[in-house]
Amino acid sequence: MIFEQLFDEDTSTYTYFLCCERTRQAVLIDPVLSEQDNYLHLLKKHNAQLVYTLETHVHADHVTAAASLRAMLCSRSVVHQDGGAACADVLVKDGDELSVGDLKIRVLHTPGHTNGCVSYVVDDKVFTGDALLIGGCGRTDFQQGDPGKLYDSIHEKLFSLPPETRVYPGHDYRGNTVSTIEQEMHCNERLGRERSRESFIQLMNNLKLDLPRHIHSAVPANQACGGSLAA
Ligand code: FE
Repeated sequence: MIFEQLFDEDTSTYTYFLCCERTRQAVLIDPVLSEQDNYLHLLKKHNAQLVYTLETHVHADHVTAAASLRAMLCSRSVVHQDGGAACADVLVKDGDELSVGDLKIRVLHTPGHTNGCVSYVVDDKVFTGDALLIGGCGRTDFQQGDPGKLYDSIHEKLFSLPPETRVYPGHDYRGNTVSTIEQEMHCNERLGRERSRESFIQLMNNLKLDLPRHIHSAVPANQACGGSLAA
């Protein structure tokens, strides 16, 4: 597999490029509209065909490149069935598997940051979106956020993966690029081993964070897959 981790500095968002070496079929996880030219260069560099854009959830901080890439490259957009983006070409649920050339992409429903959050497992890697971040987790105070659900998703779905599984998050604000399930089970400041469900819920309900800068335009745009409402 060809693998690249890309970063949008404006919103500290990670986008991931995964490509089957044999068939040159590729996917982008959480592509950002303003970074689209970089993706087009990357696809050209690897002589790759974009088959899917995979959203980990409907984002509140940036607009997805899904609709724009679909219009240009005929890629198909993938969102969880509870994500609120009926415009997607493929609505997935827990346990679904997508095949892209020789790549097998397994869907884990990991709600709590939003209702429609998923993580994608590919070989020894898990792409956790805003469910599990390195040393932290996504906020739970809007878009049907629910700290109890997030705690259960992380403990039941993610912490049950093999400990050596490499964790690639949707964001990082401190320069981290990758972690492991084992590292997060031990060291995550919000979810480490000793944190009880009750204590986590209390912590998350008292974060008092400002809303993301672009939330009022980004959410409706992403519910349209980054399409006509994006302007
Ligand atoms: Fe998010």
